[in-house]
Amino acid sequence: MSTVITPPPQTLVPVLGSDAAFPVGRIFCVGRNYAAHAREMGHDPDREPPFFFAKWADAVVPDGSTIPYPAATRDLHHEIELVVAIGVGGTDIAADRALGHVWGYGVGLDMTRRDLQAEAKKLARPWTMAKSFDQSAPLSALRPVAEIGHPSAGAIWLKINGETRQSGDLADQIWPVPEIIAHLSRLVALRPGDLIMTGTPDGVGPVKPGDRLEGHVDGVGALMVTYR
Ligand code: MN
Repeated sequence: MSTVITPPPQTLVPVLGSDAAFPVGRIFCVGRNYAAHAREMGHDPDREPPFFFAKWADAVVPDGSTIPYPAATRDLHHEIELVVAIGVGGTDIAADRALGHVWGYGVGLDMTRRDLQAEAKKLARPWTMAKSFDQSAPLSALRPVAEIGHPSAGAIWLKINGETRQSGDLADQIWPVPEIIAHLSRLVALRPGDLIMTGTPDGVGPVKPGDRLEGHVDGVGALMVTYR
């Protein structure tokens, strides 16, 4: 069937060292998945099951990009995160089988308009406009499980202009990747092409025009973007 408008482009993420790309369907994000970050945001990390929000697939920005400072905020924050790329869909996935649904991993930034999020929290409104805005998901090239296995421990950090701002360890995730997939697949049917941003360690803070952000996850990769 013909379409009445030109279809929007499919978001594609490069696969490191390959001509192939990973087609992105949806982006799910886990909130408060490192205890120290939950505490810095004023929450008790011991009492909350994982919760999720989402970003549009077309929020993805490739590694190496220069990104305009976004509209409607005066407090853009960085959140460096391990990103899971789902290769096999499913519902009610058991944690002990969840890793079989993962195609690969990447390094991402869950960029956040913190002032809009604070207002949304205060008024008990959705976070959508704080989290899912244009170019809010810088993402490295992905690497397949076949090459790197399943990272469950190792450094995750973010530097701005060469200075360390966030520094954590994947082992400190409250809900590790298999548990995240198990919880999320009880809420929605996961599909091939879904990405999951798995939460950020503590040290989130503001980004200014001109800042160069470098992110890293041990065994997964690196990401660099600049704001103008
Ligand atoms: Mn986040």
